[in-house]
Amino acid sequence: PMASSEKEAALSAIPSDSPTIFDKIINKEIPSNVVYEDDKVLAFRDIAPQAPVHVVLIPKLKDGLTGLSKLTIADLNIRWVSTDSPIKVRQAVIDSPTRGQSVYHLHIHILGGRQMNWPPA
Ligand code: C5P
Repeated sequence: PMASSEKEAALSAIPSDSPTIFDKIINKEIPSNVVYEDDKVLAFRDIAPQAPVHVVLIPKLKDGLTGLSKLTIADLNIRWVSTDSPIKVRQAVIDSPTRGQSVYHLHIHILGGRQMNWPPA
């Protein structure tokens, strides 16, 4: 059954190797707002954005990899990152040179571990 909210979904979801809604997004069985796609990854705008820019970057090959807790360096190289996908995602989502950066050393934020609200605090 479809959960009525992201919070409800997060509370009821359990780890599983079964196909998910992201498999349907990859296969274009359900629509998504794609910002970048290549043979290894798909990046799309989150339907419940938690920040002005909120993109979900997913590997096309799940192969038992259900979440960060199972991520290895080999997964990063083989399944997750294609050579230019970070650049292509950046080109697709960054529309202003001023994004509130405070530390000028390359970094990417990954948000998770708690439910977040819109608008962002
Ligand atoms: O960490 P979590 O598993 O909750 O992240 C899944 C994300 O996928 C959520 O932020 C949710 O809004 C997003 N999503 C989406 N399009 C869907 C289903 C989920 O962008 N059709």
